[in-house]
Amino acid sequence: MKLRVGIIGAGPSGMAQLRAFESARQLGADIPEIVCFEKQSDWGGQWNSSWRTGLDAAGEPVHSSMYRHLWSNGPKECLEFADYTFDEHFGRPISSYPPREVLFDYIKGRVEKSDVRKYVRFNTTARWVSYNEQTQEFTVTVEDLAAQKTETHVFDKLVVSVGHFSVPHVPQFDGINSFPGEVLHAHDFRGAERFAGKDLLLIGSSYSAEDIGMQSHKMGAKSVTFSYRSGPMGFDWPESAVERPLVTRFEGRTAHFSDGTTGEFDAVVLCTGYQHKYPFLPAELSLKSKNVLYPGNLYKGVIWQDNTNLFYLGAQDQYYTFNMFDAQAWFARDVMLGRIELPAAEERAADIQVWLERQDALPDHDAEADYQTDYLRELIALTDYPEFDLDTVSALFKQWMKDKEDDILGYRDNIHRSVMTGTMAARHHTRWINAMDDSLQRYLNGPSQDVDTGALTALTRDDEQIAAK
Ligand SMILES: Cc1cc2nc3c(=O)[nH]c(=O)nc-3n(C[C@H](O)[C@H](O)[C@H](O)COP(=O)(O)OP(=O)(O)OC[C@H]3O[C@@H](n4cnc5c(N)ncnc54)[C@H](O)[C@@H]3O)c2cc1C
Repeated sequence: MKLRVGIIGAGPSGMAQLRAFESARQLGADIPEIVCFEKQSDWGGQWNSSWRTGLDAAGEPVHSSMYRHLWSNGPKECLEFADYTFDEHFGRPISSYPPREVLFDYIKGRVEKSDVRKYVRFNTTARWVSYNEQTQEFTVTVEDLAAQKTETHVFDKLVVSVGHFSVPHVPQFDGINSFPGEVLHAHDFRGAERFAGKDLLLIGSSYSAEDIGMQSHKMGAKSVTFSYRSGPMGFDWPESAVERPLVTRFEGRTAHFSDGTTGEFDAVVLCTGYQHKYPFLPAELSLKSKNVLYPGNLYKGVIWQDNTNLFYLGAQDQYYTFNMFDAQAWFARDVMLGRIELPAAEERAADIQVWLERQDALPDHDAEADYQTDYLRELIALTDYPEFDLDTVSALFKQWMKDKEDDILGYRDNIHRSVMTGTMAARHHTRWINAMDDSLQRYLNGPSQDVDTGALTALTRDDEQIAAK
C-alpha cells in the first residue's frame, strides 16, 4: 500500500510541502498519496487575507492577520525560493519590499506551475486528530464546510502547517473595560485610515506594533504611542510617535504608564502577539511554545520528538520565511520517503538540546539571524533543495535591521540584489510613505495607471526624488 500523507493547512508552509513532493515526482520518485486540508477557499495562508475579522463566511475563525497596505517588512531577497525566482515569476526586476498582493501572486505562481492544487481539499477544516500506537496511523476528522459533512481520513504521516500568527494573545489591563474608544488586537486590524487625526496607543514592541504604528502615521494619525514591556524598539520615530513603558491602568481615555506619565487616547491596538494553538490536536501531539527560533521537542525544528510520524512546518519565529519552509518541507519529505534515516531518540534529543542551548545564548538580533541561517544551512545540506548563498542572505538581514534604524519610514525604498539570480531589484515608482494604492496592478503598472492627476503629480515628484537619491 502507498504511504498516506496528510497535510493540515495550505499556507506557504503547506504549499512548500506540496511542492517538495512534486519536485521529487518530477525527478522520477514514487510519491505518496497526499491530501491537504485547507479551511479557506484558497491557498496562501496569511497572504490570502480579506477585510473580514472574527468569523469568515463559513463561520470559522478568520485566519489571516494581514491588512490593507501591508508591504513586506523584510527584503524579498531574503525569502526568495531557490527553485522559483522573482525574475522567473515577474519577468523583470521588481522592488525589494513589495506589498502583500504581489508576494501572494509570487507564492501562488510557483504552485500553479505544477499540478498540485488537485491535492488540496479547500473549505475543509481539520477538527480532530487521533493516533493509534498499534497501527501507527493518524485518523483525521475533517469538516467539509461547503457540504456540511464530517469525514475521517487515515494517514501514516501527518504534517501540521497551520501557522502560529492567528490566535491572539490578549492580556488584561486594569480599567480597559471602560475605555470609551476602540480597543482591538492586531489580528483584527485591517487598515489605519480610520486612525487619521486620532491619538493611538499601541501596546507591544514587535513587528505588529512597529508596522501598525507607522501605517497609522502614514495615514495621518495625530499621534502614535508605543507601550513596551521588555524594552523600547528605539527607532528614530517621526515627531508624532513616542515610546513609553508598560500601561499600568486605564481611567476613561487616560492610560497610565509605569514611569508615572499619562496620555489620552482615542483607540488602543493590542500588538501583544499570538499563541501556538492546535485545537484539532490532542495535548500529547500539540506543540506548546512561545514565539522562538527553536521550539523544544522538534527534531531539526520539524519532527515531533515523541512521535516521528508527526511533522510541524513553520512553527518557529521567522527571519527566513518561504525558503525556510521549503528547506523544512524538503527535509520532511525525505524523512517520509525513507531517504533520510532518523537517529535514535537520545541522539535526536541531544541535537535539539544543542540548538536550544545556543538559542539561550543569543546576544542580539544579528546573532539571531546567523542562528537561523545556520539552521537552514544544516537542513539544506540534507536534501536536494538548491543551495544558495546563505551568508549573503544573513548579511542582508543585518543590513535590513540597520536600514530600519537609519530610517524607519524609508527603509522600504532601499533595493537589494538577489542571491538567486544576481539581479538588482528595481526602485519602486513610489516611495512607501507616499504609496496609497497597494494593489498588484498599481504596483506593476505604475503611476501612469492612476486616474487621479493630483496623485500623479505628487508621484512624479516622488519619482524624481528617488532618481536623485
Ligand atoms: C501581520 C503579519 C505580517 C507578516 N508579514 C510578513 C512579511 O512581510 N514577510 C514574510 O516573509 N512573512 C511575514 N509574515 C509571516 C507569515 O506568517 C509567513 O510569511 C507565512 O504566511 C507563514 O506560512 P504558514 O503556511 O506557516 O502559515 P499561514 O500563512 O498562517 O497558513 C496556515 C494555513 O493553515 C490553514 N488552517 C489553519 N487551521 C486549519 C485547520 N484546522 N484546518 C485546515 N486548515 C487550517 C489556514 O487557513 C492557512 O491557510 C507576517 C505574518 C503576519 C501575521
